[in-house]
Amino acid sequence: MLVAVAILPAMAQTESVRTENQPDPSQYSRPYPIPKYMTMDELLALAPASAEELSITYERMIETIEQWTLPDEIVAQMSQEELNDLMCLPSNFTPTNQFDLKEEAPQEQQTRGTPQTVKVALIVDDNMLNKYKYTNPYAPFNECMQWAETWAKNITAYANNILVNYSITFEIEHIAYWESPNNVGYEALLDAIQAVDPRGIGDSVVILMTGQFDGSHAGVSNRGGRHFVMGVAIPNVPVDRLFAHEASHLYRCKDHPTGVCLMSIPSQLGTTQYCDDCDETMKLYKNRLDHYGVAQCVGYSLYVPGFVYNPGGIVGSIPDNNMASIYGASAGGGGNIVGRLDKAVSAHTVHVFIGAACATTVYVFVSSDNYNWNQISKQVVPYNQYMQWVNCGSYSGSFEYVAIAAIREGSYGACIDIDSVWVQSTV
Ligand SMILES: [Zn+2]
Ligand SMILES: [Zn+2]
Repeated sequence: MLVAVAILPAMAQTESVRTENQPDPSQYSRPYPIPKYMTMDELLALAPASAEELSITYERMIETIEQWTLPDEIVAQMSQEELNDLMCLPSNFTPTNQFDLKEEAPQEQQTRGTPQTVKVALIVDDNMLNKYKYTNPYAPFNECMQWAETWAKNITAYANNILVNYSITFEIEHIAYWESPNNVGYEALLDAIQAVDPRGIGDSVVILMTGQFDGSHAGVSNRGGRHFVMGVAIPNVPVDRLFAHEASHLYRCKDHPTGVCLMSIPSQLGTTQYCDDCDETMKLYKNRLDHYGVAQCVGYSLYVPGFVYNPGGIVGSIPDNNMASIYGASAGGGGNIVGRLDKAVSAHTVHVFIGAACATTVYVFVSSDNYNWNQISKQVVPYNQYMQWVNCGSYSGSFEYVAIAAIREGSYGACIDIDSVWVQSTV
C-alpha cells in the first residue's frame, strides 16, 4: 500500500482535536469486555477454533496413573499435610492468595534470560470444585471459583518454579467453568477443549484441570499444540510436576523410557531436571507460546480527511477498554498509529483487538527501526464487528514496531477502534 508506506515514516506528533461536527467513533462500536470468569459456552463462543485448526492431528502424549502415583511405601511415611502439599491444595481448604504450602516460595526464584510469558485460558470442572464443596457444601459459586483459582495458581506457581531454567512463566488470565461429561475419559475431554482457540481471547494455551479420574489417565496433552488436560485430585500425584511435564509436551518434548529426566517414565516422579535432549528441545522452542504486546505508542499520522483519537489506547497486550480510534471522513481519509513492542521479536504473528462501526480496510505493517516498513496484511474488518482479536499477519524477519493503518477506500468506510496488540511466535 503505497500511500501508507510513504506516510508512515513521517509521524505527526500533534494531538488531533475533536470538533462538534466530527463523529465520535466510539459511539458506534461497542467494547466486548472478556470476563475473567465465564462459562464453558461463553469461552467457546468467544474463542472458537477454526476448521483448519480442528483438522490438525496432534501426537497425543498419555500419562498413566501408574506412572504418576507415588509408591505406597513413600505415601505411608507422609503426613496428611504433605499429601495436601503434593496436590498444591489451598491451606485448610480456605481461599488464600498465599503460596505458603511448600518450604521454598516460588516467587523468590530468579528467572534466567528473557521471560517467556504464557497466557492461560484455564478450564476448571465441577469435579474440581467438588473438592471444596465436600467440606463447604453451602459455599456460594463465586467462593468455590475463587478457591479453585487459588488451587490452580498454586499448581501453576510451583510448575513455573520447575520451568524457571527456561524463564517460562504460565499466567492464568481467564477461567471458565465446565460441567464436564463424566465417564468419557481424558482423551474425549481433550477433544472437547480443542474446540477453543485460546488466541481468540488473547491467550496462548488452554488447560483443563479436572477433578475426574477416568481410571487410567493422570493427564493427556497435544505434543507441540496448545491444549492439555490434567487430573488435579488424583491421590498421591505431585501435580506441579505433572503440570510442568504436560507443559513441556507443548514445547515438543516427548516421553522417553530411559534416563533421569522429568520426561522419562521411570524417573519423572523423582526429578525436576531435564536430560540433555529435552533441555535442547526446551531451549529451541521456549518462546513458541510467549506473549508480548505494544508497550508504547510512538506516533500516529493522519490521511486527510481523517482523524485519530486517543492513539495511546493501543498500548497493552490484554484488552483494557482504553481504545484508540481511526476515522476517515471521506475517500482517502484515515490514519495510522505506530506502537513499539516490549522487545524486538522475529518470526511472529501480530494480533490486534479491533472493532469496526463500518466496514474498514485495515493495513498492518512492521518495522525494526520505525523507518523501513513491511506490509504484512490488508483486510476488510466487517461492518459492526464487535471488539475481537483479528489475525493481522506474520513476518519472518525481526521487528520491534507495528503500525496499524485504516483508510477509507473503494466502497468501504473507515471507522475502527483498536484496544490492544500482541504478538506471538510462529514457531
Ligand atoms: Zn508425558
Ligand atoms: Zn528427557
